[in-house]
Amino acid sequence: MEVVSYLVYLIASVCFIFGIKKLSSPKTARQGNQLAALGMLLAIIVTLLDQRILTFEYIIIGVVIGSLIGAVFAIKVPMTGMPQMVGLLNGFGGGASTLVALAEYDRILTGTDVFDIQTTITIVLSVLIGAVTFTGSLIAFGKLQGIVTGKVVKYPLQHPLNVLIFLAIIVAGVYVVINPAEMDILLGITFISLVLGVLLVLPIGGADMPVAISLLNSYSGLAASMTGFVLQNNMLIIAGALVGASGIILTIIMCKGMNRSLMNVVLGGWASAGVGGPAAAEGAHPKGDVKSVDAEELAMILDSASNVIIVPGYGMAVAQAQHAVRDLMNILEKKDIKVRFGIHPVAGRMPGHMNVLLAEAQVEYDKLIAMEDINDDFPNTDVVIVIGANDVVNPAARHDQNSPIYGMPILNVDYAKTVVINKRSLNVGYAGIDNELFFYPNTLMYFGDAKDAISKLNNELKEV
Ligand code: NDP
Repeated sequence: MEVVSYLVYLIASVCFIFGIKKLSSPKTARQGNQLAALGMLLAIIVTLLDQRILTFEYIIIGVVIGSLIGAVFAIKVPMTGMPQMVGLLNGFGGGASTLVALAEYDRILTGTDVFDIQTTITIVLSVLIGAVTFTGSLIAFGKLQGIVTGKVVKYPLQHPLNVLIFLAIIVAGVYVVINPAEMDILLGITFISLVLGVLLVLPIGGADMPVAISLLNSYSGLAASMTGFVLQNNMLIIAGALVGASGIILTIIMCKGMNRSLMNVVLGGWASAGVGGPAAAEGAHPKGDVKSVDAEELAMILDSASNVIIVPGYGMAVAQAQHAVRDLMNILEKKDIKVRFGIHPVAGRMPGHMNVLLAEAQVEYDKLIAMEDINDDFPNTDVVIVIGANDVVNPAARHDQNSPIYGMPILNVDYAKTVVINKRSLNVGYAGIDNELFFYPNTLMYFGDAKDAISKLNNELKEV
């Protein structure tokens, strides 16, 4: 039986690795997800056949309750709420690792087995990382959901306090490893780690929360991997390591997309950024007149264009305008106008946000062009239609050294002959800063909710 379970674990691991590989392209992402899910199913079945399981009652009850809650969440959560849902799930993963490690410690303590150094070290690490992930993720969820303030929270002696708490945990951990008979001390480590999770995530601003969630995702993988060592389960070690590694890679990609260092995010760098908080409220605002167009005028402009780039952003997601945008693409293509989409790596509120929405609306993958591949084409483009994007097209990122987004790579939409921006007002985006692009001579504002405005435009275009 042991050989069979090793073999199935190996197959499951291969499914995970190829699943992740396939996730790297929108074309194969669905297959990748299914392959990884199949791997997980195999791993769960083999683990449940393990002879050490005495009773299935609790397992079945847990599976039923967990699946029900998970299914309801997954069906109900809007696409815009996905980052906090992922955050919550990371937290549960961390919490589970902590509980399993505590239970294993208790089992060895009260049973006939003896502690070996490897098991005790991994129990302590599992408890530490799992507990930090649990409370950190709950705070991250609360910040994005608006339950906890999205602002950067500073408290006295922030960094020395956190370092001190961390050192205290390490000292207590070493003590437990040397004298592995003290449940109270391990519970103390759990409690302090829970507090540390809160203190570490509280200072991070709402705008940086998706990055923090990706980092916590990596932590939850590390915690699971440690638990794999505790239980001597190779599958858990491998799966946890994959989550840990992919989480950290994603975190780095997100930081690069914003031109931020991980340290800057973790230490609460974008001090004034917050969910919907206008950071530039007291600074100088760009001045000048904006030119606005209505649907009829815009339809005429588009009718005489020969190539168009659509740049979607968070507003398209909130308005659920992706289907109207797909119709716009079809109508323009029927008029022999070349249409492509320019996708910024951090447009929206999570990596791949725009790709997922447009794929859902059946826009072909080869029309979604990454920022670095499309940026040189803007000067030769007749019309760019920016739909609900703001920060990712803000030219201040290129030249204004005082801007919080200075240095962040942007889509150079302002180099096109005409830029049309659809949003409801001149309001700021997630970074909370004004956008001078609205006042550029080649910019036209097309005000309105993305779904309504694009549907109106489609009707007008059909009549031109
Ligand atoms: P922004 O948040 O900069 O701007 C979105 C704009 O959409 C707003 O200015 C808003 O203007 C408009 N909007 C809101 N609702 C609607 C609606 N119903 N119809 C039309 N427009 C609407 O979005 P971007 O996508 O440009 O940038 C993403 C931001 O999120 C960046 O700052 C990025 O760093 C950050 N971020 C992204 C992450 C990711 O992984 N994708 C992770 C972490 C942060 P108005 O109110 O006037 O309509």
